[in-house]
Amino acid sequence: MSDIFSKEKRSIIMSKISGKNTKPEILVRKYLFAHGFRFRVNDKRLPGKPDILLPKYKSVIFVNGCFWHGHENCKAATLPSSNVDYWRNKISSNVERDKKQQMQLEQMGYKVFVIWQCQLNSKEQEDTLQNLVEELTVKDCISPNNR
Ligand SMILES: [Zn+2]
Repeated sequence: MSDIFSKEKRSIIMSKISGKNTKPEILVRKYLFAHGFRFRVNDKRLPGKPDILLPKYKSVIFVNGCFWHGHENCKAATLPSSNVDYWRNKISSNVERDKKQQMQLEQMGYKVFVIWQCQLNSKEQEDTLQNLVEELTVKDCISPNNR
């Protein structure tokens, strides 16, 4: 069977698939999918519309931008030097909202994972995603009755 795309066309398609502008949450989704996880995306029925919902694991994943979600002690979360008060209020209300939504999800019985954008840089990406998969699949050891 011959290739339906010319070589040139194919390389254009491939370059789009592995595009440099891949959003962090897409990166996480692709990794999970490649490892056999099936999930829903931005489920509006849940607090905070989690980026990724894994019903089978009763888990949700948020992929957070460091600046907007106020990643503590992170260079990427440094506030602009002007309008400091405005930004401080803005970011801290985002942080409060995140906390509240995560608490609601936990009360509903979900495990909540947060992945920070800075943990997805090319150096740390593989470790971050491996850890995530490990933590997702770790046996539930909360209730001894499960044994
Ligand atoms: Zn960060």
